[in-house]
Amino acid sequence: MAGERFEAVDCPVCGTKEATFFLKTFDRYVFPYEKKYRLEKCRNCGALYVNPRPVLENQDHYYPIDIHNPFLEFEANHQDFFQKLYAFVHPYAISWKRKQLEKIAGVGRILDVECGNGDFLYAMRRHLWEVMGVERIQKYANFAHRTLGLPVLRSIEDLSGATIDYFDAITFWHSFSRFHDPVTVLEKIYGHLKAEGFLFIAIPNTRSLDFYFYREDWAALDIPRRLFHITPAQMQKLVRRTGWKIINQKQIGLDYFYNALLSEKIRMARILPSRFFSPVRYFRGFLVAWLSRIVGITGNGSGMLYILQKRKL
Ligand SMILES: [Zn+2]
Repeated sequence: MAGERFEAVDCPVCGTKEATFFLKTFDRYVFPYEKKYRLEKCRNCGALYVNPRPVLENQDHYYPIDIHNPFLEFEANHQDFFQKLYAFVHPYAISWKRKQLEKIAGVGRILDVECGNGDFLYAMRRHLWEVMGVERIQKYANFAHRTLGLPVLRSIEDLSGATIDYFDAITFWHSFSRFHDPVTVLEKIYGHLKAEGFLFIAIPNTRSLDFYFYREDWAALDIPRRLFHITPAQMQKLVRRTGWKIINQKQIGLDYFYNALLSEKIRMARILPSRFFSPVRYFRGFLVAWLSRIVGITGNGSGMLYILQKRKL
């Protein structure tokens, strides 16, 4: 890709330099697949991270408009099976997120970090939440702001003094690992949440069965948009470096199926470079999702939702 620039980094979870090679993978949106991204495993905490990784200024490169279409959820005629499935499941996913919040936070003010096209905040506003978004990718921010009329900042750096102790909830829906420095992000948003407010972080889990099965084809790797991958134990370690504490964690049911079926699609595209449709492979995807779900009862879901609060100092 033209204009790509990389930087070598230490572990974004614990700051350790020593790491071992884990696997090579590819950008699932760029054909033909070229395994040019290295995932390394931290020798201290075990987190997986992209190294070297694309520099921050390059981020828009990885969201080409023909693939990451901000209008997708709002379009009526979806072409491919996954678009249809996504459009069908999407309202349930949004309402699941809202219910998770309202169960413990009631209704109030919310900040959604990396809000994408604003679909979640748009729904929250209809349910009387006062909403604000942060989105670094230009085309998503434009859509959320201009088309949906949502207040959207371009970066968490743009949060001003006006929102200190302001929000009842701050959310990262599968966006946390898109940040180059997760510890700094947790510190920066800290003051903007009320003392009794809640922070929600949804993130894929590399201790799930479906990750072991799909490895470099695992859809949730989503490299190089996601820069690191962690397990629940590593998430605890990361949070301990900040003023936050995890008060609850749960599995995200839909992620098992979304990740396994999409991983099958990716594997098919890699191994069979045609649009060959194989019901057998999708059946296997369902099977892996169910197995992963059963194994996930032990606390390792394909996707995890962590609920955090400020530590009482
Ligand atoms: Zn580490």
